[in-house]
Amino acid sequence: MPLYEYICQQCGKRFEVLQRMGATAEGLSCPSCGGADVNRALSTFAASVSSGGGSALPCGKPSSAGCGGGFS
Ligand SMILES: [Zn+2]
Repeated sequence: MPLYEYICQQCGKRFEVLQRMGATAEGLSCPSCGGADVNRALSTFAASVSSGGGSALPCGKPSSAGCGGGFS
């Protein structure tokens, strides 16, 4: 389940919410001021998927490099 980051439009508070894929900001409220006017920011999950090209390992290295200690 992806972690989405939201930004409150009233107080600027950034907070993260675990939501189902494709869920919206509907029904969410700011944990700081209670405002319902929140916008979704790019989560780290979405950012890594969109920039990884689909073949990178979770550590960020190309799949041919592996996720080992990095010493050769
Ligand atoms: Zn707020």
